[in-house]
Amino acid sequence: MQKLLLLLIPLFVPAVGFAEPLRVFASVVPVHTFVEKIGGKHVDARVMVRPGFNPHTYDPTPQQISALAGAALYVRTGVPFEKAWMARIQSANPSMQMFDARDGIALRELEAHSDDVSGHDEEHHEEPDHEQDPHVWTSPALVKHIISRIRDKVTELAPAHAEDFARNHDAFVAELNALDLELRALLDPLPNREFMVFHPAWGYFADDYRLTQVPIEREGKEPGARALVALIDQAKRENIKVVFVQPQFDQRSARQVALAIGGVVVAVDPLAADYVDNLRRVGREFAQALQP
Ligand SMILES: [Zn+2]
Repeated sequence: MQKLLLLLIPLFVPAVGFAEPLRVFASVVPVHTFVEKIGGKHVDARVMVRPGFNPHTYDPTPQQISALAGAALYVRTGVPFEKAWMARIQSANPSMQMFDARDGIALRELEAHSDDVSGHDEEHHEEPDHEQDPHVWTSPALVKHIISRIRDKVTELAPAHAEDFARNHDAFVAELNALDLELRALLDPLPNREFMVFHPAWGYFADDYRLTQVPIEREGKEPGARALVALIDQAKRENIKVVFVQPQFDQRSARQVALAIGGVVVAVDPLAADYVDNLRRVGREFAQALQP
């Protein structure tokens, strides 16, 4: 009798074996938003780097590590905290599938130096491997690629909801297409194309809309005194009047540059949860900053 019961048990477990709703972790808030939008009620989406925290330095809490035990999928993006934590995250749940949002994307290199300051700076040490830019989600075009893969992945894990996932995906694509058109209308006509930012999170966005990002931060560090002077000169030369910052980072050197050029500091957040509305706001801030 016991043997018979054991044989019967697998028949009552869903074909793929994952509890529903499907628990999916994402490293960063915007990707968590994408998972929520695609998965809807069939997915229990969780975020690792909680709102307000910095993905470059984050440490998961013990509660988050335990919650991984019930997860079917983890969506990573290559943000720096993953370097220290990914192995521990996977070992907390070896059967959890790992999904890299960057797959299939031609990654850009992080702007480490602007040309005119490299080489003669006291902060400048031997050239490191150019770090690849993990902020792929700032490009609506790349988000379309990412969400089609998320749709495929959750469909594979919960095939019964394939239609819902497809419908949610298509609705989100329509939103992203509308956003892209708006951003083009806003940014295409601007004569100035260069913007200054403390942490270079907007590279993929800049590539999409033919803008150039000038970062203050160097390889994840505050600039040295001479680099700061060179940045101020560059800002004056390029007639830059706005220095963008993001809320999760220190704003001291951005304020120093802004003060020196008689400009202002404006906060834009690449980690906001309301992805589409946030990028619309960011587009307007950039457009305003780049007015002649
Ligand atoms: Zn970043």
